[in-house]
Amino acid sequence: MSHRRLEGRVVVATHNAGKLVEMRDLLAPFGIETVSAGELGLAVPDETGHMFSENAALKAHAAAKATGLPALADDSGLCVQALDGAPGLFSADWAVAKDFGPAMARVERELEKRGATDRRAWFVSALVIAWPDGHEELFEGRVHGEVVFPPRGTAGFGYDPIFLPDGETRTFGEITKAEKHGIDWAHPERPGLSHRARAFQALAAACLPPRRT
Ligand code: IMP
Repeated sequence: MSHRRLEGRVVVATHNAGKLVEMRDLLAPFGIETVSAGELGLAVPDETGHMFSENAALKAHAAAKATGLPALADDSGLCVQALDGAPGLFSADWAVAKDFGPAMARVERELEKRGATDRRAWFVSALVIAWPDGHEELFEGRVHGEVVFPPRGTAGFGYDPIFLPDGETRTFGEITKAEKHGIDWAHPERPGLSHRARAFQALAAACLPPRRT
């Protein structure tokens, strides 16, 4: 399958400061100039999809249409096995006034309510690039692990302090952003750690120009 190459300026279709930092870090080595939906004052589209990929597509197409530029959107979330995949698509909604302390406490409470001992969980990131002519490219990444309580670490954002990736001793809240979403470009076939890094590796291989740095 042939993919379309992303060049020049791209709208990062997010109003989430944490995600914006990660996406900018990932795009920077490719010489792609970024402007965010938040910086452009674009409206936040309703996320009415039933899958991460649908919501990413909604956000990317809305931004591409509004700006006439290609747009990159991520829809992501934490899925907990014993909660039937919740909070999942509603990961952002479990926060209270953008504070994820209550959201992490709710995950623990819901597990206790069910008497669940299974702590398996995974993060999903769906990345969609949409062009103003309606063309779209979709990439998905996942990282499996478990949720741990109490939350550990102050790095990152969202549910990072309760997510312990498989094979690691530190949560996403206890590692640097380079460790979390960095990619070893000398060995691009080695998967990065985070769901977003993994989705981005697939996107880079398919749609980005050669790296400049
Ligand atoms: P949305 O994709 O903007 O609907 O929001 C996804 C939500 O999932 C974020 O607000 C975070 O709460 C959570 N989330 C997604 N990716 C991560 C991550 O890398 N670390 C921690 N939380 C995340």
